[in-house]
Amino acid sequence: MAGFERIDGGPRSVIVVGAGIVGLSTAWFLQERGVEVTVLDRKGVAAGSSWGNAGWIAPGLAIPLNEPSVLRYGLKSLANPKAPLHIPVTFDPALWAFLTRFAANCHWGSWTRAVQTGLPLNEESIEAYDVLTANGVAEPTNPGPITAGFTSPRAAVGLLHELRRMADAGQHVPHAALERDQLRELVPLASDALNAGVRIDEQRFVNPGRFVHALADSVTSRGGTISTVEVVDIQAAESGVTVYGRSGQTYRADAAVVATGAWLSAMAREWGVRVPVRAGRGYSFTVPVDREIPGPIYLPEVRVACTPYQGALRVAGTMEFRKPDDPFVPARLEAIVASTRPLLDGVRWDERTDEWVGPRPVTPDGRPLIGATRQPNLFVAGGHGMWGLAQGPVTGRLLAEQITTGKQPAALIDCDPLR
Ligand SMILES: Cc1cc2nc3c(=O)[nH]c(=O)nc-3n(C[C@H](O)[C@H](O)[C@H](O)COP(=O)(O)OP(=O)(O)OC[C@H]3O[C@@H](n4cnc5c(N)ncnc54)[C@H](O)[C@@H]3O)c2cc1C
Repeated sequence: MAGFERIDGGPRSVIVVGAGIVGLSTAWFLQERGVEVTVLDRKGVAAGSSWGNAGWIAPGLAIPLNEPSVLRYGLKSLANPKAPLHIPVTFDPALWAFLTRFAANCHWGSWTRAVQTGLPLNEESIEAYDVLTANGVAEPTNPGPITAGFTSPRAAVGLLHELRRMADAGQHVPHAALERDQLRELVPLASDALNAGVRIDEQRFVNPGRFVHALADSVTSRGGTISTVEVVDIQAAESGVTVYGRSGQTYRADAAVVATGAWLSAMAREWGVRVPVRAGRGYSFTVPVDREIPGPIYLPEVRVACTPYQGALRVAGTMEFRKPDDPFVPARLEAIVASTRPLLDGVRWDERTDEWVGPRPVTPDGRPLIGATRQPNLFVAGGHGMWGLAQGPVTGRLLAEQITTGKQPAALIDCDPLR
């Protein structure tokens, strides 16, 4: 690969398992460092969480999930099947062990640590996107504030409080409180039920499926290969790695990165990665709207995110702790419609299309897993929870640096998968 810098002694070839935003970003930034990449995905490009998400590149809102209030909220939700947070009452000891661990992390100390871990990722999140789009990824990112709408000024206090806590932990988020009329200028779809707002500035949004496909095209145009293969095993040694596909395929390379989102723990447990990743499944759909939407809309009271999408509105929400491949549950999506309908006007709810469910890769301590495993030449990248789209490219850039130089960047110390 002429024109690229290669660090002597680093791997010349890397297999990346998982063609979501995290895996493909890692492949792209490895190519930038002269490494030959092969990407394997069991279903193809953007087959997981990276397709139907809300598309926000919103480092300013990358608030970790493990807030103390989530614990109280989660307990109340257990009794309400329509609540945005859904935990099915099933016999799944691994799920309950995960939730116990998650609950133990729902305190301000652990939350603040998760914010601080995210700081270097959030700081460079947008810039890493700019590097991609300036160098061959042919899908734009769109600037725009994200506007949160509330039923009353009092209801906005929770978000303002969170943003203040983020600032105290080092993450400055430019924002402004909005009166009812100011909210309407930014959210022409606001119904009479919305009476206050918060504008979060300097954020971006994308069509996530199109962006990830454009990233995949860029990886292949630079000489990488992407194949549809379900990986069932990886054997790692000092001399390199061997990756085995379900249909008997075998691939060899100097190193491998496993970026399989909510499926990460299935393999990574064996390599010393003891922090589990579970699927916090979210649902989304697209609906036509009667008025133009200038930018994303956040409805914290019902935990719904809306984004301009192909001339319509993508509506996303819900956190459902089920297995990543469990069937789509129509009632979860109907609960999003029922909770959002009173807050927005001019939305043709019954004409919705693209109904989708996808698994957010959630860790119990709100910190991603990025770096080396106990096996030689074997790395993982994942567990970004609600913010993997925003943090995917910067993750790929930092991990590519670690793989090619052999040194853990300071920004990744708190993301160590062996913690
Ligand atoms: C409703 C919803 C809204 C969201 N909104 C946002 C948002 O606005 N902004 C934001 O930053 N984040 C958002 N997220 C979170 C974001 O989508 C995820 O954090 C991110 O997509 C995770 O990317 P990933 O590459 O780690 O995983 P994925 O995109 O899930 O990719 C993992 C890939 O691994 C493959 N795979 C799994 N097992 C194997 C195997 N054995 N062999 C080969 N391949 C395998 C899968 O097929 C999949 O393609 C949202 C998520 C949801 C569900």
